[in-house]
Amino acid sequence: MARKKLIAGNWKMNGLMADGIDLAKGIAAEVKAMGKPACEFLVCPPFTLLAPVKKALRGAKVALGAQDAHFAEKGAHTGDISPLMLKDLGCTYVILGHSERRADHHESNELVNKKAAACHAAGLKTVICIGETLEQREAGKAVEVCREQILGSVPDAATAADTVIAYEPVWAIGTGKVPTAADVEEVHAACRKVLAKKLGKGNANKMRILYGGSVKPGNAKELLSLPDVDGALIGGASLKVADFIGIAKNAGCAE
Ligand code: PEP
Repeated sequence: MARKKLIAGNWKMNGLMADGIDLAKGIAAEVKAMGKPACEFLVCPPFTLLAPVKKALRGAKVALGAQDAHFAEKGAHTGDISPLMLKDLGCTYVILGHSERRADHHESNELVNKKAAACHAAGLKTVICIGETLEQREAGKAVEVCREQILGSVPDAATAADTVIAYEPVWAIGTGKVPTAADVEEVHAACRKVLAKKLGKGNANKMRILYGGSVKPGNAKELLSLPDVDGALIGGASLKVADFIGIAKNAGCAE
């Protein structure tokens, strides 16, 4: 089953206006130069940069995504942003349930599920993040934790067309530590089995499961050539054009 790889950048809380526009323009130019890339590209800047980044990406095959959304359409939710507002700005994707939001904002699987359903209803695709802590990995519970997070965070009506899973071991995010290729493939294959039970084999076989956690140009080829790894969610290395594009090129996107 051919799944088009997704190369996604999570800029987190980084970038003022000028840097964000420069980064987006640099990525747009490189992706345009690839002609017909074999992968799909996505950048997820902070809310403040969504509109200028959208403009800077004009003409390039790079999708725009946000890093979170509220589940409500509108109303008394100070500081929050609704799926419709994101759609209105030109977003097509939203990252949900990132481990930093699960930790900093106590987001539960139930809340992530509710947000995902609202985003899907608004016509947005979601990148739903899962992944174990170091303690859980050392206790041999990585697969079990991911299974629970998928069962709880992914809406029952999710499909391969509106949902992408990102497996991001918490201990690998921003640390330079990466699981072995065998460990990554083990979790991804197990996730696909859970998705098959939950959403049916058709959806599971078509659904992209990204790996995230210290992906760099130097490890992209090994990680992104694993059979159940369908792209990457990239934090730190997505903030430099050369690194983000280097990852894509080493993953075979420009061929
Ligand atoms: C992330 O936070 O989604 C991430 C994968 O970060 P990094 O690439 O910096 O580990």
